[in-house]
Amino acid sequence: MNFVFVGGDVSVDFSNTIKIVNGSKTDLLASPSSLYNWTQQLELDIPYESLDVNFQYFKSLRNLIHNCFQDFAYKRKINKEHLNKFNDFIRQFDIHPNILPGLPMFPSLSYESKQIDSPLLHHIVKSFLDVITDEYTLDRLKPCENDECVLLFVDKSKNKARRWCSMTTCGNKIKASRFYYRKR
Ligand SMILES: [Zn+2]
Repeated sequence: MNFVFVGGDVSVDFSNTIKIVNGSKTDLLASPSSLYNWTQQLELDIPYESLDVNFQYFKSLRNLIHNCFQDFAYKRKINKEHLNKFNDFIRQFDIHPNILPGLPMFPSLSYESKQIDSPLLHHIVKSFLDVITDEYTLDRLKPCENDECVLLFVDKSKNKARRWCSMTTCGNKIKASRFYYRKR
C-alpha cells in the first residue's frame, strides 16, 4: 500500500489513508495488517493484536476524522453534524483523558478507553483534538491544490505558501501541464 505521510500531524496522515488511486477514491486501510503497516511506517510501536481486535473501531474513527478535516480544509468551516458524530463516538466508547504522574517530573496525558484497548487510540485522538481546537494549526489545514487529489496537510511553512501534498507528485504534475501556464 502506498501510504503517504505528508499531513504534518498523525491524525491528518490517518485521514489521508483515503486517497485517490488510479482516479478513484480508495481506502488504503483494507485490513488490520494494512493498519499495522501504517503504524510501522510512522514508527509507532503498536502491538498488532490491539489493531486486529479494534480494526473496525479504528476505521470508524478514521472516517469521522476524515469527514471533519475535509469539511474544514475545503469549506473553511466546522460541520456540526460531523463533529457531533465524533463526540458520539467519544461517548459511546468512553474515551477519556488519563493523567499519569510521569517520571521524573512531568505528568503525561493519555487518552484511553476500556472498549478500544490500543495505544494507537491515544495518538489519533490527541492529534485530532490538537489540530481541531488550535486556531493556528486549523487555519493551516489545507487541501492539495491538485483537483484530482484529496490529500490534506498542515502548512508549516513560514509564509503559509505550501500548495501541494508533495512537490514530486502533484506539484510537478500541475506545473508541467499547459493549463498551469495558460492561467499565469
Ligand atoms: Zn496532491
